[in-house]
Formats: sequence, structure tokens, C-alpha cells
Amino acid sequence: MNAFALGFHEEERVIARCRTCLEQAEHDDCCMREEFTFLLGEYEKLFRQSMRLVKMGDRMQQKLATLNEALERKQEELLRLAATDMLTGLANRRAFMETAHQALSRATRHALPLSLFLVDADHFKRINDTYGHDAGDLVLRNIAVIGKASLRAEDLFARLGGEEFAALLPDADLAESLQVADRLRSNMAQCAVPVQGHRIGYTVSIGVATIGGRVDTVDRLIKAADEALYAAKAAGRNQVAAHAPLHSCTPAPCGATPPGG
Ligand code: GH3
Ligand code: MG
Ligand code: MG
Repeated sequence: MNAFALGFHEEERVIARCRTCLEQAEHDDCCMREEFTFLLGEYEKLFRQSMRLVKMGDRMQQKLATLNEALERKQEELLRLAATDMLTGLANRRAFMETAHQALSRATRHALPLSLFLVDADHFKRINDTYGHDAGDLVLRNIAVIGKASLRAEDLFARLGGEEFAALLPDADLAESLQVADRLRSNMAQCAVPVQGHRIGYTVSIGVATIGGRVDTVDRLIKAADEALYAAKAAGRNQVAAHAPLHSCTPAPCGATPPGG
């Protein structure tokens, strides 16, 4: 990189001017030309040192920019890992809860429907006991793949932990979410996971809860889906059960007398 590229325009002009003066002094056989030559040499030395410093600064800035980019990539990767379930690659419970809170605020603000499923593998312990834990892991991975493929792009399918998964369906009312849940259940029931010469079939039970546009907390929605899931299990498993849509309900203040009480 030359001096002009580094922004030393003024210095370049001064040196050029000095050289012209020196040539003139030599031509005129001026008595000051030795001093003049010495001063010009010193000025050029200082100038080269400044250039070296500026180049060093530029290189350090480039290195810092590269390090910053790497750091940002690492931070993004860490955030992604903190939100991901390692076995299935799905969103984990933390990420699901965060998205559910955002989705609920949006649904409440715009009076839109919102549905949530809890999906639990049936008799999963038996799969582990019969085929081993690794085979169980493969089934969990299969649930993740089929679950994701059975939903729309704007829905979220997450692993909450163990053999329990959850789906969040923005803008889906009860009828729509029941249809989706049953498709998900049926897709899984038709699936057989190949493991060491076996084909492992499995089923899931699903509890669906939905809001009519207003609900107070995500916890209430999850609790409602959990009650529906319990009903699906009790009804014989490989079933979908729904909770009645939840409506806005402000909890009674502590100590208040219940209606009619
Ligand atoms: P139910 O139909 O009532 O849900 O019965 P279940 O056997 O599915 O439920 P239970 O809670 O009795 O057993 C869940 C099993 O899931 C027990 C546990 O060892 C297994 N499990 C939990 N996490 C994992 C995992 O990451 N990998 C594997 N392979 N198994 C897991
Ligand atoms: Mg289970
Ligand atoms: Mg369970």
C-alpha cells in the first residue's frame, strides 16, 4: 500500500516540494543545501516510520474484525445450542416456552386462535426394555422427523424432555388443530423404525388445547393440554383428545369470595 492509499497526501506533497527546492538549491549552488538534504532525509525517515505504524494499525484492525466475526459466530452457535435438544435437533423446552409466550402475546393482542399439543410416546419404556436404550433413541429421533414433517412451516415442534414432545400452532383453531394432531398421530402409528433387523412400530397419545383468542398464561394452556393428554391415555392410547377452548379468565384476587359463596 503506498502513501497516498494510506492517506498521507499532505506529507507526500511536502516531500515533493522539498525535493524541488533541493534541486533548485543544488542548481543555484546554495550554501544551505547540506542542511536542506539532512532535514529532508530526517523528514523522510519520520514519514516512513509513520507509514509503518499506520500499516500495523490497519493489520491489527483487520485481525480484530476477523476475531470479532468469529466471536459473533461462536455466540450465535452457543445460543442455537442452548435452544436445541441434542438428541433430536428439535427446539428444547426452554426455546419452546419462549416461543409459546411470544405466540400467546401475539394471539391475545390480535384476538387470534392459538393451539398447543402435548405428544407423549405410548409405553415407551417397553421399547427401551425390549430393544435397548439406543433403539429407543432412534424412535425418539423418528418422532422428531415425523412430527416436524406433519406440521406447517410456521408451527413449532419441540422435545420437552424424555419421550414427551410439544407442538405450537399459531392461528389454528380447535377443529384445525384436531385435524393436524390426528394426522400427526396417524403418521407416527404407520411408521416403523428399522433397528438391527427389526422394524419397531410405535404410537403416541396427544392432548390438544386451544384458546379462543384470549387466555391468561402459557402454563394454563400447557396444563389444559396435559389434562387432555391424560384423557387420551386413559381412553386407550394412540388417541387425540382435546380440552375445551380456554377463554380469558382473570383469576379471582386472593381472599375474594367465590361467586355464590
Ligand atoms: P405411557 O404410555 O404411560 O406414557 O408409558 P411410558 O412407558 O411411555 O411412560 P413412562 O413414563 O413409564 O416411561 C418413559 C420412559 O422413557 C422411561 C425412560 O427411561 C424413557 N426415556 C426418557 N428419556 C429417554 C431418552 O432420552 N432415550 C431413551 N431411549 N429413553 C428415554
Ligand atoms: Mg410415554
Ligand atoms: Mg411421558
